[in-house]
Amino acid sequence: MNKTRSRHNVVIIGSGPAGLTAAIYAARAGLRPLVIEGPQPGGQLTITTEVENFPGFAAGIQGPALMDEMRLQAQRFGTEFLVSYINRADLTRRPFRLFTDDVAVEADALIIASGASAKWLGVPGEAPSPRGLGGLGVSACATCDGFFFKGKSIVVIGGGDTALEEATYLTRYASRVTVIHRRETLRASKIMQEKALHNEKIDFIWNSEVSEMLGTQQTGVTGVRLHDTVTGEESVFACEGAFVAIGHKPNTELFAGQIELDDVGYIKTNGRTMETSVPGVFACGDVQDSSYRQAVTAAGTGCMAAIDAERFLDHTPTEWPLEVVVKAAHEMAFA
Ligand code: NDP
Repeated sequence: MNKTRSRHNVVIIGSGPAGLTAAIYAARAGLRPLVIEGPQPGGQLTITTEVENFPGFAAGIQGPALMDEMRLQAQRFGTEFLVSYINRADLTRRPFRLFTDDVAVEADALIIASGASAKWLGVPGEAPSPRGLGGLGVSACATCDGFFFKGKSIVVIGGGDTALEEATYLTRYASRVTVIHRRETLRASKIMQEKALHNEKIDFIWNSEVSEMLGTQQTGVTGVRLHDTVTGEESVFACEGAFVAIGHKPNTELFAGQIELDDVGYIKTNGRTMETSVPGVFACGDVQDSSYRQAVTAAGTGCMAAIDAERFLDHTPTEWPLEVVVKAAHEMAFA
């Protein structure tokens, strides 16, 4: 089937804080970027409630409202949007090519801001409200939501670095934090284990899986149902919040084999810039950051990626094939 084809200076994949900040900068530089919004337009902030730590909003702002503002700001300078989902990407030649079900998009420079998704348990009660208790006590982001659990008893599910980091962070607010882990040994690094095991506000429940989030739309979370992985016994543990911290998954399946990824699947960037292993392809936000994962850091790297893309386009004529670009990149500041 012949697909509609369009060519752009800069295409940005993803419309969270990283993608939209990249769009604002690229659009203001006159590059008329195209943002392909992806399966969750606005990104992870659209499933948060109040954002209190994004600079410039002294009274806080709702996650979806913040993303609406960023989108309008990007639009104001000429960003185009495509509400679609890419199912194939070809980064082996210039222009880079992206395919949705019905269009083929060509890009002289590409910015990947496809984000990461929190992994979920997939148990009853976990879905976002009103289908479940997501946003009503169930969360996957301690830095975003910890503040709402002042003086409350909460659980953190998982046994890796993320779980122990979240648990330790949450002790600032919660009266008690109970880590629930499906085995009896932690996966987390020794240093994180030491810190959590010695924290007086943190308890552990071992060999237990959460099989259901309990509560109603009126009460919020009131407890979790536990399944003992050794004895098979079922029990209920009372709590007022449940943080799922079983890891994040960078959304990089599309690019596997075409771009350098780290062991966990995050896109490798060169550190000082947002360049990836393919000249002309840049990455920003959570898709290349397993460490900070904040809206403001995502926005910062989005800005960097757009500036990098602009410099790249200035230095590498669009008619150059990729192998010439690769050679040139090694001779220029991009190498
Ligand atoms: P990990 O994959 O390391 O750990 C996930 C944890 O969740 C494991 O304990 C796992 O159990 C548990 N888990 C997974 N699936 C389920 C499930 N369905 N039900 C119950 N439990 C489940 O992910 P992290 O996000 O913790 O870490 C990812 C990477 O990021 C790591 O390399 C980590 O070191 C790094 N990181 C570093 C930090 C730092 O240095 N400050 C902070 C956060 C992350 P099991 O152990 O049984 O498999």
